[in-house]
Amino acid sequence: MSMDLLKDALKRLNHIVEKTGINESTYQALAQPQRTLSSNISIRRDNGKLDYFKAYRCQYNDLLGPTKGGIRFHQESDMSEVQALALWMTLKCAAVGVPFGGGKGAVTVDPKSLSPMELERLARAYIRANADFIGPDQDIPAPDVYTNARIMGWMMDEYEKIVRKKSPAVITGKPLIFGGSEGRESATGRGAFLMIERLSEKNNWNKAEQTVAIQGFGNGGYHCARLLQQAGYKVVAVSDSKGGIYCEDGLDIESIYQEKQRNKALKAVYCDDSVCESVEHKVLSNEELLALEVDILVPAALSGAITRDNAKAVSAKYIIEIANGPIEADADEILHQQGIIVVPDILANAGGVIVSYFEWCQNRQGEAWDEQTVQDKLSKYLSNAFEEAWQLRSDEGLEMRDAVYKLALQRIESALEAHGTQS
Ligand code: GLU
Repeated sequence: MSMDLLKDALKRLNHIVEKTGINESTYQALAQPQRTLSSNISIRRDNGKLDYFKAYRCQYNDLLGPTKGGIRFHQESDMSEVQALALWMTLKCAAVGVPFGGGKGAVTVDPKSLSPMELERLARAYIRANADFIGPDQDIPAPDVYTNARIMGWMMDEYEKIVRKKSPAVITGKPLIFGGSEGRESATGRGAFLMIERLSEKNNWNKAEQTVAIQGFGNGGYHCARLLQQAGYKVVAVSDSKGGIYCEDGLDIESIYQEKQRNKALKAVYCDDSVCESVEHKVLSNEELLALEVDILVPAALSGAITRDNAKAVSAKYIIEIANGPIEADADEILHQQGIIVVPDILANAGGVIVSYFEWCQNRQGEAWDEQTVQDKLSKYLSNAFEEAWQLRSDEGLEMRDAVYKLALQRIESALEAHGTQS
């Protein structure tokens, strides 16, 4: 990452601590990660060459439970990014009330440059480097950017071979056949969708009139778009890293997804005459998508999409952060001045880790819940957290992000007090 993400995350945290009257010592407890393991891992490429990659696992803070968070494979990942993401996991788990601390991992690699076999070797090498560091009562990884259930399956398998026993609860977001949970795949997108549904209830929206633009069409962005369209919202724009498409009357998400599965860039979807040739659409850049005059903007790509430089151009009324950290700390105030309400990442994308928690519970109890049970429980966790934050927002005149942070920080503060003097 080009900017120091941890520095930016701490700057925002410090600001919110001051604004919301949280104890300075709680900030101090979070001002540094507890532990970060950095390693140099190698894999044999298909052509026989040995290649080396930087790998990280950060256990940011375990006051509320074993640390929890995904592993990403990305060419721009670095230690500061991993630590910032692990801090956000700490706040996320605290905000929604799941009994986990926060962690995160990454390998600095361009995943698109790896063959499937190389990907498997890399996943297994990551676990060999981190096997003593992680564990079901210690630190529990999951998928993140450019990792998925298949990769989690390889990782679990490697871990079990090392510890020489079955241990499905060491990792979540696994394939169903290995003890993964129903509903985990779509959980992040569903969580963001549920937050938009809560806003709709509060504002009595006519959904057919609510326009939505989604930046990023990975796991989170796609499922959110799909559920929004099914519920009657008008999803007018979606994009991937190469750009996006806009259609005033709303897009058909499922057919776009099918095309994307064939490795097609979104901006090229309607170029193929066989697909929806009659759809009137515009191709647009990611910058243009962020500036669209829509009701709801959903940044679902990487961190730092909205900065102090482009925040003024944002014309949406609501921003729902599916990506982790899509808004730079300096842009918060600019968006607030424009009257934009932001549902922050640590609430809006918490669906993933909440269902990861359910998966961990099922693994430990030897159970498998049906999808409806998972969805009902997810909805309960998220609605409770949303209502609490919404109430705090109006009682104390806070921005939504500050209210959600305050809820999280209060829980961390209570844990610090309960630990006594030795925490
Ligand atoms: N990577 C997801 C996140 O950023 C999920 C983490 C998890 O399930 O542990 O929240």
